[in-house]
Amino acid sequence: MWYFPLQKTCRRFGLFLIAAVCWVIPEHGQAPLVVLTPCAVEAGSPELIRVDAPATAQLDGEWMGHTLQFFRATDGRGWFALAGVDVEAPVGASTLHITEKLGDGDARDLSRTVEIHEAHYRTEALSVAPQFVAPPPSAVAEIEAEVALKDRVFGASAAEPLWSGDFRAPVTAAPTDSFGTRRTFNGKLASVHKGMDFRARMGTPVHAANSGVVVLARKLYFEGNCVAIDHGLGLYTISMHLSRIDVHEGERVTKGQLVGLSGATGRVTGPHLHWAVRWQNAYLDPAKMLRLNLSQAH
Ligand SMILES: [Zn+2]
Repeated sequence: MWYFPLQKTCRRFGLFLIAAVCWVIPEHGQAPLVVLTPCAVEAGSPELIRVDAPATAQLDGEWMGHTLQFFRATDGRGWFALAGVDVEAPVGASTLHITEKLGDGDARDLSRTVEIHEAHYRTEALSVAPQFVAPPPSAVAEIEAEVALKDRVFGASAAEPLWSGDFRAPVTAAPTDSFGTRRTFNGKLASVHKGMDFRARMGTPVHAANSGVVVLARKLYFEGNCVAIDHGLGLYTISMHLSRIDVHEGERVTKGQLVGLSGATGRVTGPHLHWAVRWQNAYLDPAKMLRLNLSQAH
């Protein structure tokens, strides 16, 4: 469980090469108006979408049922949206709809086809305490209330980007190749693992991956002690199973700030940090998020 298969590493390295090559070759001999980074898109990919359009333009976008929210880089070098493809999104061709409206009423269609490639995630079987597979009746109301709470919290993101620059790992601990794994719990319940597990020992400091506002800082049934940070425009990072929480809901945090200590609360098999990246209702691969170069979107 704690190793990186050679085959997968090679495949990922191959994707990295494709991404690097796509970035430098202009389409049809001229710079493209819409550029996706990384350009090799697969289920679970975060995507930085750059559009070359004047500052006075209004951009509307939609991709696989998600509304895109564009912001202007502070140095005026284009428009950006930080988006992504859910880990369970169907593979195949998708249409990235973008319309550029200019002040004089003119509109230009910048839509393009984006191929979603299959990501080859693994399958594993886990054993946890029985009450986390079949919660007792006494816990049902609590779990339902938490679902409503999360719907409310994750549906009210800030209207501007609160992050700046690249995202950093939340702990100094070995990451595992666990995102997207199809899991069975006690041989019964199947689910997709929508975050990355770090092999963090009990009590390891957990930091904010980027600046934002704390929107959840409390104990939840499955997540245990949970801290969620809103980075604006629908983007969140979520730390679970903490042994201690050091921030409160509504608090503004900066990149690298201590938010708590890792632990083993909630549905776990042992101490670790589960760290998730959520955009709107899509879960993205944290490893890809940490590799994404966001310096151009300043
Ligand atoms: Zn996990």
